[in-house]
Amino acid sequence: MRCTCADKGDLGRHLAGLSALALLAVACATSATGRKQLLLMPDDEVRGMGEQAFVNVKKESPAAQEPVTNAYVQCVVGALLQVIGAKASDWEVVVFEDDSANAFALPGGKVGVYTGIFKVATTQDQLAGVISHEIGHVISRHHEERITRQMGAQGAVQVLGALLGSRYGEGIGSAAMQGGSVLAQTGFLLPGSREQETEADVVGQQLMAQAGFDPRGAVALWTNMIAASNGSRPPQWLSTHPNPESRIRELQQRAASLVPVYEQARAAGRRPSCG
Ligand SMILES: [Zn+2]
Repeated sequence: MRCTCADKGDLGRHLAGLSALALLAVACATSATGRKQLLLMPDDEVRGMGEQAFVNVKKESPAAQEPVTNAYVQCVVGALLQVIGAKASDWEVVVFEDDSANAFALPGGKVGVYTGIFKVATTQDQLAGVISHEIGHVISRHHEERITRQMGAQGAVQVLGALLGSRYGEGIGSAAMQGGSVLAQTGFLLPGSREQETEADVVGQQLMAQAGFDPRGAVALWTNMIAASNGSRPPQWLSTHPNPESRIRELQQRAASLVPVYEQARAAGRRPSCG
């Protein structure tokens, strides 16, 4: 299923019996870059899935004990969150002792950074480049979008059935919701589509510039990523993020136009000094 609101017609046929077109209309959103999105997951369900996924990662990977590293990452995340009006204390940030050059953010206010990322993100601006991209996925609601896609029309019917059911009590509604969740969880942590990746780049780079991080740091980060991938095993980051070379060109172009935003942020006193 393509995830655009043009799908309303197809889904509408599936959903006619449920009289759910009003809900479907509500579920159509416009992303930060003006893209139509079809989102059929209730917010609290998505947050709950993010929280659960984070619990699972914490079970599998040990947290880094180094206080300086933790403070450094907290500082970068905190500066970024300020721009979106979120309180740092509402977000959980964990640095994991793991050699892979990776980071992620999840709905429900979760950020995970693997220590391997410091091999390629060697300055605070580069680290902000990674983390702002990941937060960009969350604020652009890409997880919801991925789940909606993964479920397809049939799963959407189940979820909408659950929503309708929940208005009238438990029973069938919650059973249908469970069916939807099982499908959804299989797709929850899949890599983003190309359009989502571009959007996370756009949103993330804007965010970092507004926070007072040099947007050219994102370019340097990706250049380092590519250099690191010339070894025997490319970082997971690269394999889940398509077309690194063309992405760098786009990041470069956007960095140039974002330098004034960055300078304005610095002039306004947003000068993160994280390490
Ligand atoms: Zn991404």
